[in-house]
Amino acid sequence: MRLRNIPGAREKIAENEWSIKDPEKNKGRWNEVFGNDNPIRIEVGMGKGRFIMTLAQENPDVNYIGIEKYSSVMLRGLQKQEELQLPNIRFIRMEAEVLTEVFGKGEIDRIYLNFSDPWPKDRHAKRRLPSREFLHRYDEILKKDGVVEFKTDNTDLFAFALEEVEPAGWHLDKVTHDLHNDPVMNEGNVMTEYEEKFSSMGNPICKYIVSR
Ligand code: SAM
Repeated sequence: MRLRNIPGAREKIAENEWSIKDPEKNKGRWNEVFGNDNPIRIEVGMGKGRFIMTLAQENPDVNYIGIEKYSSVMLRGLQKQEELQLPNIRFIRMEAEVLTEVFGKGEIDRIYLNFSDPWPKDRHAKRRLPSREFLHRYDEILKKDGVVEFKTDNTDLFAFALEEVEPAGWHLDKVTHDLHNDPVMNEGNVMTEYEEKFSSMGNPICKYIVSR
């Protein structure tokens, strides 16, 4: 998601009380940031953050962290949080490649990937968020029974993601190629901005849940 660059977005994020500066300083002690021992779930590439903020509203006993690399995009989420003042969510502007510098072993309970950038060229496969390289990073920060949940309408990216599961040493727990018509997997589904846009165009939504 590339919104028009908002002048001063980076500075506004740096000043915002809900965005975490120098996040690596909290490695291994994120529960202190939230002031409780509730599980911590992250969305990598949250965009404007509607999905993760809805989850935070629905589940006050779970802590959430939205991760986004672009300041102008993340700022939209922070503006919404200024209105909502949800106590159980924080935001980090960062590139997901450094996840293991920011979170300690087993610190994260669940990872959400929603409509991740496809990086269609083969030479960029390692940058895809469901790639085996990223699964190895998730492996380091997820707790024992932790899972990754991935949604997309991009069938090529989904086929790639499915192929990456076993070579990375993970297991496919659940899968659907038409989430909105799968009554079991769709139960409690929270739509993301991209999900609403692409499903309204008639694109089926694919989803998997994987674990180690
Ligand atoms: N998850 C949202 C949704 O489903 O509506 C946004 C989807 S948008 C296509 C993908 C978002 O992920 C963009 O905002 C992009 O900047 C962010 N993103 C992609 N790769 C990332 C990375 N390596 N680290 C952090 N954010 C990333």
